[in-house]
Amino acid sequence: MIVNERLVTYLDSLTWQIPEPMQELEQWALQKEVPIIRRSMQSLLLFMLRLRQPKHVLEIGTAVGFSALLMRSELLPDATLDTIEKVPARIWDAKENFAKYPQGDKIRLLEGDAADILAALVREQKQYDFIFMDAAKSQYIAILPDVLRLLKTDGILITDNVLQEGEIVESRYAVTRRNRTIYERMREYIYAVTHSPELVTSIIPIGDGITLSIKKQV
Ligand code: SAM
Repeated sequence: MIVNERLVTYLDSLTWQIPEPMQELEQWALQKEVPIIRRSMQSLLLFMLRLRQPKHVLEIGTAVGFSALLMRSELLPDATLDTIEKVPARIWDAKENFAKYPQGDKIRLLEGDAADILAALVREQKQYDFIFMDAAKSQYIAILPDVLRLLKTDGILITDNVLQEGEIVESRYAVTRRNRTIYERMREYIYAVTHSPELVTSIIPIGDGITLSIKKQV
């Protein structure tokens, strides 16, 4: 949490209500301690989808399908949504949830490691106009080149949790060796998206920090 906790509770209590069936799924996921997107990211995603009305959406990091189902609820009927997950137990739960909740049958679950699946999508010459990245943070920098190949000009890339509870700016001596590597890679990622000649990027300090990028014509 990088903004004041009381302020977040207040903001979350204000206007944002997720659609009825999604509230049940949100509670179920939180009880199972599955890390799903926070309220601030939920409203931002739906806002951006309403604004852009993308035809082809890709999510990296399905977990149990919460954010995919939420995004699906805002998409136009003929839009497509692909989502990638590699952990078998999560894939199992996501499939059950896609069978149970509205429009789940219109979501394509791609099973396997994101790096492999993205490479396959590039080979298939797939193009997306909206990509939401919410998987293993340390891999973002490695998969960014393929993500950019898959993103259409004028397309949107949103990445969650880029500020790691604000810890990415801690002294390297104040964090564990494992986290040090994750934070270094995340700083590399933030640098890459803010300095890429292909992107215009804004870093927004809501939730755990997000980057919001649009792909330029180069
Ligand atoms: N977007 C989901 C939501 O809000 O409902 C939450 C996603 S959760 C934060 C991240 C997910 O990414 C986990 O389920 C994890 O197993 C998956 N993941 C992590 N690294 C991955 C990889 N390399 N390939 C595919 N999935 C990965």
